[in-house]
Formats: sequence, structure tokens, C-alpha cells
Amino acid sequence: MVKEGFNPFHMAQAQFDKVADLLELDEATRDFLRNPMREYTFTIPVRMDDGTMKVFRGFRVQHNDSRGPCKGGIRFHPQETIDTVRALSMWMTWKCAVVDIPLGGGKGGVICDPHNLSAHEQEQICRGWIRQLAKNIGPLSDVPAPDVMTNAQHMLWMLDEYEHIHGAKYPGFITGKPVGMGGSLGRTEATGYGVVYTLREALKQLNIKTADTVASVQGFGNVAQYAIRLYNQLGGKVICVACWDQSDQKSYSFRKLDGINVDSLLSITDRFGGIDKNKAREMGYEILDGGAWLEQDVDILIPAALEHQITEENVNKIGKRVKVIVEGANGPTTPEADKVIAARNIFVIPDFLANAGGVTCSYFEQVQCNMNYYWEKDEVLSKLDTKMTAAFLAVSELARKKKLYMRDAAYVISVGRVAQACKDRGWV
Ligand code: NAD
Repeated sequence: MVKEGFNPFHMAQAQFDKVADLLELDEATRDFLRNPMREYTFTIPVRMDDGTMKVFRGFRVQHNDSRGPCKGGIRFHPQETIDTVRALSMWMTWKCAVVDIPLGGGKGGVICDPHNLSAHEQEQICRGWIRQLAKNIGPLSDVPAPDVMTNAQHMLWMLDEYEHIHGAKYPGFITGKPVGMGGSLGRTEATGYGVVYTLREALKQLNIKTADTVASVQGFGNVAQYAIRLYNQLGGKVICVACWDQSDQKSYSFRKLDGINVDSLLSITDRFGGIDKNKAREMGYEILDGGAWLEQDVDILIPAALEHQITEENVNKIGKRVKVIVEGANGPTTPEADKVIAARNIFVIPDFLANAGGVTCSYFEQVQCNMNYYWEKDEVLSKLDTKMTAAFLAVSELARKKKLYMRDAAYVISVGRVAQACKDRGWV
């Protein structure tokens, strides 16, 4: 998904280059890490429900597997591009390394719009994606997962196709499966909860009580919904959420100054995280333009929709009261906006740390599949909390010690670990 003139892969590389300088990496290591190890682009022909054939484009990028099998989601999106997938696969490498799980980075996608596809057509795309890649992915090499506009059902179709091709059961081949079919309890909550575990620790360090804070959120999908739920449980209040309106092809912000209610909003939200604005108005929400979520008088901003949302153009609209930005989405903040945020001394919990709960729980799912023994939800979430908190503390301590911006500190830890693994293997 790329906005005109914006290339997320160039942004990921620019972020990497900055850290490569900080770490004084040699030329070969830089060259190796700023590019994916392997990329696959392919076609997926599908017989549509009306009998016609349509050809979709699919991608898989394996950025780095020095620390373990590649891991990363598959997105279905009409504006998907190879450069978005490259960027996201690179961010997955750093994400797995920052939470110190034994996995590398990968990402996949298909250019398609599930809004306009029947379940049967989506199943054919899933099976076609696997048929094109079955030899190049697997539980010991590259493990996919759901991402934007893909879910447990898509993963199950993909698993089924993979097992059909290989003639055996491989529950650890893919994560994000339905619970009871090899999925892990807690996976649905994991990313959003992980965002809030790190936020809770940041607020502790800033000596701010969560119950005294107010937040504004971009997105009302999986990550945002569970982040808001846990933040509410800790006493925080969300006054604004923004989401995409499919019929108007634009985004809106929904504001309720006495606090949004997740359950009632969910009753008027479609499965893509889009809120019905007429019903929301009836419920007492103010409907504002899509960018308004960023300009609210709040302590905390949680971008949890898409990349490239806080940019040079709008960064100065961030409210004066904002103290923490916790990035639920991947790549929501551009390097130019980062400079302004750093200068304002806003505490940033960078994407690949804040939203690492999803991949951490996916790793737990793989572990459970390999053992064929499944944990209770509380056990999963408590292990998740331990991992996320440890990762946050390591990053914030380095940031404090070396006086680094939080994003740079997270990068120093993760790029350092991956570069070391590549060196130890004799790759660079
Ligand atoms: P989702 O598809 O469930 O929800 C996305 C939300 O963003 C929806 O509410 C949608 O309406 C909204 N949105 C889309 N375009 C928008 C726009 N232009 N302006 C405002 N809102 C818009 O997706 P998700 O799983 O919640 O993922 C959200 C972000 O978090 C993505 O960047 C994803 O890569 C990242 N992420 C997700 C996970 C996960 O486990 N789901 C893990 C790590 C990172």
C-alpha cells in the first residue's frame, strides 16, 4: 500500500542506514542487511464466481533468516506493492530481533480487494498463493501469518493447501490459525495488548498514572480494538478513533469526549474495521475529518491503521499535550516527522517494538504446535507480557544510557543482534 511519492522501502532503508552509521557496520554487512535475501513475485489465476478468469499478483519477501525461519504476515490490499512488502519484511527482521525470538523477517501480499471478493474467490487466492510458494516456505524456513485484511480462515485454507501438497500435517507451517485448529489462545488480543504493555511501562517511567491519561487512536481494526480494551481496563480513556470508510473512499475520525465505548462501536463496525458513520452519529459521536485524530487534546497517540500517517505535512498538528506516541501500525511515522517529534521530546514507542506482541504470540503458537500441547489464555498473555516488558526495558535503558531516540535505541539492539548472527554464520 503506497501513497503517491512515498516509498516505504526507501524509508526502511533510510532508518537502517542511520543505525548502520551508529553501529559502524562494515560495507558488506550494510549491503546485505539493507536488501532482502530472497524475493518471490508471481501470478495467481483464479476462476471467479461468474465463470471468468482473473489473474492476481502475489509476493513473498524473505528479508533475513540468520536468527531463525522467516516470519511475517500476508496482506490482501488493492494498493499492495513489492516495495511495501520489502519494507515490512525488513521491519519483521528487526521486530523478531528486538523481542529476542529465534525468527527472521518475511512478508507477503496479494494485490486484491477482499471487499469485492466472495469467500470462495478468496479461498482460491489463498490456495494459489501457496501453490506458487510451497517449495520455498515451510515450518523450518518461512512461516506466514495474517495481516491487513487476512484472518484465521485465510490461514486455514493456506495450511490445508500446504499439507495437501506435502502429504502430511504441518501445524507449525502457518500461524494465526483458528483456536482448536492449531491456533493459540490470546493471538487475537496479542498485538493490541502488546502495544499497551509497552505503553504501561513507558507511563511508569514518565511517572504518569494511566488512569490520568486520555488517548486518540487511528484505526479500529484488530490492533486498535484490543489496545483500546486493555488501555480502558488500566483506567485510560480514548476520546477519538479514526477509520476508513469504504463507500466514501476516505477516512473519518469519530470523537466522543466522555470516552468511546468499544463494545457499542463494534456493533456498528464491519469486519474490516470500518465504522458506520450514520449510526455513530446517532450514538452521539462527532464525525470529523480523517486527520482529526492526530490533532486532539490528548496525552497519548496510538496510530494503529497504516504506514505513512504522521508526516512532514501533519506532524506540527500534533496537540501540545501529547507525551507518548505508541505505534501500533507498521511504519506510521516518516523520518522527517520523527525529527520534529524527537525535538519536542515526545516519548515514542517505535512500531517494531510496540506491535511485536503479534509475532511473539505467533512464535508461542508455533511452539505449542510443535509440542502439540496448548496453553491456557492466561499463560499465553502472561508470557507475552513478560517478553514485551523485557524488550521495552532493554530498549528504554539503552536509550537512557546512550541518550538515544527510542526508535534508534530499538534499532541499535535489533540490527546489532542480526548483524552479529550474520557474522557468526560467516555470511558477511
Ligand atoms: P485491520 O485491517 O484489522 O484494521 C485496520 C484499521 O485501519 C481499520 O479500522 C481501517 O478502517 C483503518 N484504516 C485503514 N486505512 C485507513 C486510513 N487511511 N485512515 C484511517 N484509518 C484507516 O488491521 P490491523 O490488523 O489492526 O493492523 C493495523 C496495523 O497494525 C497495520 O499497519 C498492520 O501492519 C499492523 N500490525 C498488525 C498486527 C496484527 O497482529 N494484526 C501485528 C503487527 C502490526
